Amino acid sequence: MSQFQSPWELYQSRIPNDLDVEMEPMASCPSFPDPASDFDRNIPRICGVCGDKATGFHFNAMTCEGCKGFFRRSMKRKAMFTCPFNGDCKITKDNRRHCQACRLKRCVDIGMMKEFILTDEEVQRKRDMIMKRKEEEALKESLKPKLQEEQQRVIEVLLEAHRKTYDPTYSDFSKFRPPVRDSSGKRSTTRSSSVVTQGFSSSEDSSDTFSSSPEPKMFSNLELSDDSDESSAMAIEFSHLSMLPHLADLVSYSIQKVIGFAKMIPGFKDLTAEDQIALLKSSAIEVIMLRSNQSFSLEDMSWTCGNNDFKYKISDVTQAGHSLDLLEPLVRFQISLKKLNLHEEEHVLLMAICILSPDRPGVQDTALVESIQDNLSEILQTYILCRHPPPGNRLLYAKMIQKLADLRSLNEEHSKQYRCLSFLPEHSMQLTPLVLEVFGNEIS
Ligand SMILES: [Zn+2]
Ligand SMILES: [Zn+2]
Repeated sequence: MSQFQSPWELYQSRIPNDLDVEMEPMASCPSFPDPASDFDRNIPRICGVCGDKATGFHFNAMTCEGCKGFFRRSMKRKAMFTCPFNGDCKITKDNRRHCQACRLKRCVDIGMMKEFILTDEEVQRKRDMIMKRKEEEALKESLKPKLQEEQQRVIEVLLEAHRKTYDPTYSDFSKFRPPVRDSSGKRSTTRSSSVVTQGFSSSEDSSDTFSSSPEPKMFSNLELSDDSDESSAMAIEFSHLSMLPHLADLVSYSIQKVIGFAKMIPGFKDLTAEDQIALLKSSAIEVIMLRSNQSFSLEDMSWTCGNNDFKYKISDVTQAGHSLDLLEPLVRFQISLKKLNLHEEEHVLLMAICILSPDRPGVQDTALVESIQDNLSEILQTYILCRHPPPGNRLLYAKMIQKLADLRSLNEEHSKQYRCLSFLPEHSMQLTPLVLEVFGNEIS
């Protein structure tokens, strides 16, 4: 059964549920193009026939229940009335029973039409339809997935875990070794990037937008060398990794926070210490990429963590030894993740699901990890069904799972570049013990 309401269903559900089916033909009445909005505007509702309190539009005019019934009965009986007076009785709430002829004339004068009266058969059909709709709605309601209390609790625990381990003020960043942005422009990047040039600016001079460095042609003078692709991929100018100390501290700090978050995931602590470590080692960089989406800005394609010192552009990360082979797909990943507009609940569930992946290398009790992950995936799917309104919910779960696949290849490229980077002692000595432990230490 579809979870989505068609415009027709939406329209139907707006029809009042009472059984006053004869109000409905008003919807097509040309003389009152939008009676529904008239109701909304709290205009005085006075019966056009007798001045009593009106209950709505009946047979094309605003009338009270009494005059509505009178008009219907008169029409059905095809009654012919004669005025016992002069034929111009003024009808009021109190005297409306005195002269049926003038009351009926008044009905017709204010626009009531017998064409709007339903036959008994039509009335019955309408009633049946309304009943059927009510039953369908009740059925739909009973089939609707609901977050169980336990699932709700898991979401709350994860939200709390994230809030405890992600500081949106980024105040700790000033404790890291300071960022040093090398503006000599001596870095060599391996290839031009479509994401970089398209994403940063639509103007001709895209370099301005993402780099304030005095070397304006940093990306535009790059050459695509087809022949030496493999070697050039690693041809980073390692001697100028001025951002490495700061970003190493940032990554180290983030790893700590990811560990803190993981420990609070319901079920994580039931795993053996070995499995916990195996999961964290292989997922840490992926979760860092996921959580960094919170600071990523689509406006200037940078990670904005407070003031300008802590605003990171691609050029800053290349100055920490990473090449566009990683950064281009990473930025593309950040853009598409950002555009999913995840709720915080979905964001934290995705991070937890990412950590609890049973297929990580070195995991022993894959069954237990899988059962925890399955439970989290189920919560995520149910959450999306119940709480994420259309159109954003469309295929959202599948798109989120695709993000996990994207993270795997980003992880792989990161490992490759990290190995290359940490191979040189002058670089690995800039890293922190935690980074070396989690990402590996080539020197030892
Ligand atoms: Zn009336
Ligand atoms: Zn009369």
